[in-house]
Amino acid sequence: MKRALITGVTGQDGAYLSQFLLNKGYQVFGLIARRGSDTLWRLRELGVIDRIELIDGDMLDLSSLIRAMEASRPDEVYNLAAQSFVHTSWKQPILTAQVTGMAAVNVLEAVRLTNQKARFYQASTSEMFGKIREPVQSEQTPFYPRSPYGVSKLFAHWMTINYRESFGMHCSSGILFNHESPLRGLEFVTRKVTDSVARIKLGKQKELRLGNIDSKRDWGYAGDYVRAMWLMLQQHEPDDYVIATGRTTTVRDMCRLAFEYAGLDYRDYVVTDEKFCRPAEVDVLIGNPAKAKARLGWEASTGLEELIAMMVDADMRRVERERGAANPWP
Ligand code: NDP
Ligand code: GDP
Repeated sequence: MKRALITGVTGQDGAYLSQFLLNKGYQVFGLIARRGSDTLWRLRELGVIDRIELIDGDMLDLSSLIRAMEASRPDEVYNLAAQSFVHTSWKQPILTAQVTGMAAVNVLEAVRLTNQKARFYQASTSEMFGKIREPVQSEQTPFYPRSPYGVSKLFAHWMTINYRESFGMHCSSGILFNHESPLRGLEFVTRKVTDSVARIKLGKQKELRLGNIDSKRDWGYAGDYVRAMWLMLQQHEPDDYVIATGRTTTVRDMCRLAFEYAGLDYRDYVVTDEKFCRPAEVDVLIGNPAKAKARLGWEASTGLEELIAMMVDADMRRVERERGAANPWP
């Protein structure tokens, strides 16, 4: 039985990856920073919480990472933990640099010190492309991050490559474009929109305040994307891969889709609010996943319409549960 250690196990991707690996017969260990509030809801929602071994630890505490490595003795380590919200990264740039950037080196060091043979996955991001240097971004596109989050991730990305080249470790980096699901955090725009659609439809909210709705993202489904992480670690040689759908959509059109799915017109509800605009924006992202297709046999299998429908349905059920009323949703 293969063993995997996941940092960020309580996040969106951590939950889907846990489920994916358990279904493959892995023994799954997850690092958990116990910081008070209920962070286990995603693992509960996927029904995997009782099948994962949780190990106390924090990305900023190298000793806890070494102990987690010793306790789990993993064949594969997935480094998913991060302060992952771009907007917050301007408000907490130092914390973001420490958790999202520096702490990746803590994990790399913990692997190097305990078992250099363990395979390592780094959760890199399309935010590293930022102010894009090419109209469609691939593994060859130069980086130009536009936020403390993007800069921190770029540091972690290069450190991953450096450990691969310096120590011959099996370190791979997945440059993942935005991926969403019903388990996405409410602070991210897709989930903010689908949750609001459900609340507006059920009469619990009157409007939706958003920042820049002209920006464009290449949105995929998280359930598809965790498979790509695993595939990278099954390759003989470690490498870096862009994971994307190859289609880009404005925030505005994503809103239109979500409201339309619930029989509403977004123009009646969406209000622009400066508060949600960013000091520097990433205007457009669109990835070229050709390498992942050729080498990993990976392809996104969920379109944006299907993804948004899945998210609106899940939020309708949640909002319904909250108010305990009969379900008016057809
Ligand atoms: P989430 O924000 O949902 O999850 C982040 C995870 O990191 C949570 O489990 C969180 O724990 C954990 N974490 C944060 N700080 C610490 C810490 N100090 N010590 C230990 N754990 C910590 O992110 P996603 O699941 O969406 O993304 C997974 C990774 O992929 C992240 O690194 C993200 O930056 C990256 N990424 C995501 C993309 C996306 O579109 N989703 C795109 C490209 C990259 P807790 O629950 O306790 O807060
Ligand atoms: P990001 O690509 O990692 O920053 O993912 P987000 O989901 O946070 O943001 C995607 C895009 O939506 C960015 O261009 C944001 O500026 C834009 N956006 C517009 N309004 C909002 C909002 O209210 N919240 C968030 N999170 N993003 C918004």
